[in-house]
Amino acid sequence: MFSFLKKKLKEGVENISSALKGAKEEEERIAEQIEAAVPEKVLPLPPAEAEMIEEELEKEEEQIVPKDVKKEIKEVEREIKEEIIASKEKPKKKGILEKIGLKKKPKKEEIKPEIKEQKPTFVEKIKKAVTEKTIEEAELSPLLEDLNTSLMESDVAFEVAEKITNDLKKVLIGKSIQRGKLEETVKNSIRNSIKEILSVDSIDIINLAHDKKPLKIIFLGVNGTGKTTSIARLGYLLKQNSLVPIFAAGDTWRAAAQEQIEIHGNRLGIDVIKHKYGADPAAVIYDAIRAAENRGYDVVLADTAGRAHSNLNLMEEMKKIVRVNKPDLKVLVVDSLTGNDAVEQAKMFNEAVGLDGIIMTKADVYEKGGALLSAVWAIKKPILYIGVGQDYADLKKFDPEEVVNSLL
Ligand code: GDP
Repeated sequence: MFSFLKKKLKEGVENISSALKGAKEEEERIAEQIEAAVPEKVLPLPPAEAEMIEEELEKEEEQIVPKDVKKEIKEVEREIKEEIIASKEKPKKKGILEKIGLKKKPKKEEIKPEIKEQKPTFVEKIKKAVTEKTIEEAELSPLLEDLNTSLMESDVAFEVAEKITNDLKKVLIGKSIQRGKLEETVKNSIRNSIKEILSVDSIDIINLAHDKKPLKIIFLGVNGTGKTTSIARLGYLLKQNSLVPIFAAGDTWRAAAQEQIEIHGNRLGIDVIKHKYGADPAAVIYDAIRAAENRGYDVVLADTAGRAHSNLNLMEEMKKIVRVNKPDLKVLVVDSLTGNDAVEQAKMFNEAVGLDGIIMTKADVYEKGGALLSAVWAIKKPILYIGVGQDYADLKKFDPEEVVNSLL
C-alpha cells in the first residue's frame, strides 16, 4: 500500500541527508588535513623557523580549503591573534600583588607554556569552525525543490508538499546537526509534518453507534467511488460488533443501484428499505429512519446517487436529503485512484453539506498515497476508514500513526 509515496519519501530523505552529509564529510576531511599539517609544538622553535612553518601552513590551506571555509578560518585566526596579543600584553600590566611585592613578575620562559598551548587551540578552533558549519539555505533549497516535486508526483497537493518542505527548512537551516544524525533528523521532520496533517479529531463509528440510537449515516460521493460497497462493508462491521444496521436504498437514480444494495443486504442478513426507481431519495431515507426508530435498528446506512460535483441538480437534491433527514454523520466516499481530484471532491461536498469524515476506497490498488494527505488537509476532516480490497472484511479503520510509520 502507498508504495510509490513510500519510495519517494525514502529517496527524498536519502538525497537530502546524503547531500548535506557529503558536504560535512568533506569539511571534516579538510579539518583533518589542517590538523595533520600543523606541527604539534610550534613555539619552542626559533622565530624564523616558526614563521616559515606558518607560511607553509598558509600555502597548505590555500590548496585544500575551499573559499567559504576560508572565510571562517580567517575569522578564527583574527580571534586567535587578538587572544595572543592580549596574552602578551597581560604580563606587562602590574597587578596589585606585584605592586606590593607579594608576587614576582613572571620570567619570560614561564610565559612560554601558556603560549605553547595556543597552537593546538588554534587547530581545534579551525576544526570546530569547519565541522560545525551550519546548514545554509542555498545548499538546502535545491534539495527541498526535489523533495517537493517527488511529493507532488505522489498526488500530494502543492500546499501540503509546501508545508512538509517548509517544516524541514525550519528544522535544518541555521542549525548545526551532527553528521550521523542527519538522516534521522530529516526523517523525523517529515514524519512529524505528516502526523500533523493527519491529526484531525476522528470519530469512532462503532462507539458512537453504541451510544446513540438510531445513528443516522448518509453516504455521499461521485459514481463508482465505492459507496454501495462501503455501506455493505460497514454493515458487516457493525454486525460483527453486535449492532443491527438497516440499509436505505437512497440511490433511486441509477437503474441497478437498488438491486445492488439489496443483494448485499441479502448476503449479509441486513434489512433494506427501498422505493420504486426514480422515487425521492429523501423520502426513502426518511422511511428507513422511521423504521429504525420504531423497530429498534441501531444504525441507518443510507446510500445516495453518485453525483459529479459539477451536477448542480444532484447537489441540490443532496442538500434536500440532508435538510429533511438531519443525519448524524455525512460521510464522503472517495476513490483514492482519482488522485488530485479527491481534493476537489472533498472541498465541493464539504462546502455543500459539511462533511464529518471520509472513506477512501481502493487503497489496496493505489500506490501513490498522497491523495489521503491532501484530502484531509483540504477539509480538515478525518479519514474514517480505508477500503483495502473487495471483500466485506476489507474495510480498515484509518490509523494515522500506522500510516506514518509504514511510510517512514
Ligand atoms: P458506487 O457507485 O459508489 O456505489 O460504487 P460501488 O460500490 O458500486 O463500487 C464500484 C467498484 O469499486 C466495484 O467494482 C467495487 O468492487 C470496487 N471497489 C469498491 N471499494 C473497493 C476497494 O476498497 N478496493 C478495490 N480494489 N475495489 C473496490
